[in-house]
Amino acid sequence: MLEIDDLQVELDAEAGLVKAIAGMKLALSRGETFALVGESGCGKSMTALALMRLLPDNGRVAGGAVRLDGQDLLALPEGRMRGVRGGRISMIFQEPSTSLNPVMRVGDQIVEAIEAHTPLRGAAARAKAIDWLARVGIPEPQRRIADYPFRLSGGQKQRVMIAIALAAEPDYLIADEPTTALDVTIQAQILDLIRDLQRERQLGVLLITHDLAVVSGMAHRVALMYAGQIIEVAPAAEFFAQPKHPYARLLLQALPDAARRQQPLAAIAGTVPPLWQAFAGCRFAPRCDRAMQHCAGTPPALTDEGPQHQVRCLLYSQPGDALPRAPAVARELPTAPPIQGEPLLDVRELRVRFMLKTPLLQRGPRHFDAVDGIGFQLQAGRTLALVGESGCGKTTSGKAIAQLLRRQARISGQALFEGRDLFKLDGQALLQARRHIQIIFQDPFASLNPRMRVADVLEEGLIALRPELDAGQRLARLQALVDQVGLRRDALQRWPHEFSGGQRQRIAIARALAVEPRLIVCDEPTSALDVSVQAQILNLLRELQREQGLAYLFITHNIGVVEYIADDIAVMQAGRIVERGPCNEVLGQPREGFTQALLAAVPRLHVTTP
Ligand code: SF4
Repeated sequence: MLEIDDLQVELDAEAGLVKAIAGMKLALSRGETFALVGESGCGKSMTALALMRLLPDNGRVAGGAVRLDGQDLLALPEGRMRGVRGGRISMIFQEPSTSLNPVMRVGDQIVEAIEAHTPLRGAAARAKAIDWLARVGIPEPQRRIADYPFRLSGGQKQRVMIAIALAAEPDYLIADEPTTALDVTIQAQILDLIRDLQRERQLGVLLITHDLAVVSGMAHRVALMYAGQIIEVAPAAEFFAQPKHPYARLLLQALPDAARRQQPLAAIAGTVPPLWQAFAGCRFAPRCDRAMQHCAGTPPALTDEGPQHQVRCLLYSQPGDALPRAPAVARELPTAPPIQGEPLLDVRELRVRFMLKTPLLQRGPRHFDAVDGIGFQLQAGRTLALVGESGCGKTTSGKAIAQLLRRQARISGQALFEGRDLFKLDGQALLQARRHIQIIFQDPFASLNPRMRVADVLEEGLIALRPELDAGQRLARLQALVDQVGLRRDALQRWPHEFSGGQRQRIAIARALAVEPRLIVCDEPTSALDVSVQAQILNLLRELQREQGLAYLFITHNIGVVEYIADDIAVMQAGRIVERGPCNEVLGQPREGFTQALLAAVPRLHVTTP
């Protein structure tokens, strides 16, 4: 058994001493999958690093114990710990591009793990490495074993990482967001592989993820973390059917799906508190919808609420008077306007061709069609979701329509926006079209210039595309924009790094709205965000659509998000649209084999109780 007992982890940071983990307790048995879930910064990954003794230089274990079959790992000499790390406990890290050695062939990296931790040597170890590559779904493993990491895609690198972790044949596997970077079909394959190995070898799995659907399909038990503490532990089925902690209930209500389409999602107000601050009472109190008078001053302990169910909440151990709250306002979101009249955007035979740098005398293709003759229509006030695996051409299509690929690619076909072909416009007409079509990118951290204050970020587009406005009018517009996206006005004078991921995505939305667009290309706008922040952003996008009749071209791989926000859907495969139609029809009765396979691979979580 792998046990964590009252673990305390501290980090030295600029802001002061960060108590990253405050008294963590859990036990993982062989053959069991235990999921650690929670929002970013709650201490999930730090727990994994602490138990592997891989904390960063500014971190240390300040108390508690980690025991493997009774032996305290924190007291083990480093030489013996090296045998445990990789041999008895393996870890799959979140970021494959930084976890592989860039100057070593991937095969050698797997062979190294096999030779270090199993009796196989030389040719036998190499054959085993090829076998592992095949098992994690790398095509042509005989050939790819000689590749360096830079020749592999992100998903393939992650699969190599998984092969290295499993090749050592460990007893326990710590999987830190193991499939976050993968397509749903590869994700399903990797999760099946982990399940198979678990059965074969009685592998104990500590699964760290923010994807509750993956958890519901994989885990036997679940621990929910918040601000460095476990706040609820329960068998997975019980956790999803009857969550007890107010935060767990809100998280499950914040998940988008078809059933919640008519209402705004439950958004959890505020953000996770910084862990350098001292806590006098419940750490969730400022965000809790059931907070009581004494919650702010009394720290709750983890108490038993069932045979294997524990909760850290005073509602169960010390009930009292609820704080007065504003009554909830029931709001219904209107259904999308019907398809009638001319479409706002009519895409016909769109082809985006990238030229390849193939040497003149070498054979082989000289170009690559990332988008290969697609067509669709989008009406004002409606949302069309473009879905498909990574590399299928979704983002390229969105960027081509947003006029961002004019220099990099050869674009043919038509994109009629209010009847005028975008690809034939130039000069003033192109500038006007740019104003009406904006884009929101996936990564709110990379998409804002860190050297520009928020006011400058928002004003840049206004100066370029609304030159008729004077300074006073621009300031009024900026203030209206931050109000609209739910930020405080003082945000205008602050820098991007001062904001959380969700707040930055609001700034990115404000930047897109600044020039009063008619169409917004939303390229995975919530995939980098936690569930509760995703709910805030989806609510905001739907509200703006209702108020302003915006059309969204919504690129995503999250089917729950599609069900919640999209009216129509187009499924892409290898640059082509293989199926399109109203969302409920395509998702309810997919006709194409590819759509069926894609939907079958998506892990689903059907929550019936709040
Ligand atoms: Fe909410 Fe109070 Fe429970 Fe904390 S202790 S979760 S504030 S009810």
